[in-house]
Amino acid sequence: MSIQKEQYKNIIKELSAKGVTLVAVSKKKPAVDIMELYRLGHRDFGENYVQELEEKQAALPADIRWHFIGHLQSNKVKYIAPFVHLIHAVDSFGLLQEINKQAHKNNRTIDVMLQVYIAKEETKFGLDEQELTTLLEEYTANIQSMANIRICGLMGMATNTNDEQVIRKEFAWLHQLLLRIKSQYFADRPYFETLSMGMSADYELAIEEGSTMVRIGSLIFGAR
Ligand SMILES: *Cc1c(COP(=O)(O)O)cnc(C)c1O
Repeated sequence: MSIQKEQYKNIIKELSAKGVTLVAVSKKKPAVDIMELYRLGHRDFGENYVQELEEKQAALPADIRWHFIGHLQSNKVKYIAPFVHLIHAVDSFGLLQEINKQAHKNNRTIDVMLQVYIAKEETKFGLDEQELTTLLEEYTANIQSMANIRICGLMGMATNTNDEQVIRKEFAWLHQLLLRIKSQYFADRPYFETLSMGMSADYELAIEEGSTMVRIGSLIFGAR
């Protein structure tokens, strides 16, 4: 199997024109596929599993920006802390603290986003609006001890449905939430600006509703 080059070129052209970042989701795909995209100039890749990410990071060029987009367990943060570019799916204060601790150990700052639960499905991870507020209150109260992380925005996944209206409404809601959280907690921090939403099936809608970062796997790498 090889990557969908033409598809990639069309997508990257469209996204660049709109100022949207493309994270190419390479989970379960071999390093040779990643290299193919790398040679086309791509640098942002997304992975869901810690061990798989560690192996790929060790084998592939050092200037790749690795995005961890899966559910991250606190006890595994230490394995990716030395190199990870952005952690998309933080969903607890404890995890935030652990990332900060491991970032400090590695003498760096790690960028993270908070995952918000927007879909009407039981299987999705993330914080509801109340939990998000509680986490941000806790973060704000402990801000002096959180110097090694930066919260850069919100991430979410829409319901897996063909109903465009449902998806659009969910994305629009997350966009509004980002704006409210920004004015309430991050007004003086310009780096809080990223809205990570949209995958292969719904990225066009996500961009129309204000996404600044999409995570696309199967459209570029083929079915998993
Ligand atoms: C797998 C995955 C994607 C990419 O999904 P595709 O439908 O293949 O584009 C995006 N975001 C997350 C969190 C994922 O786990």
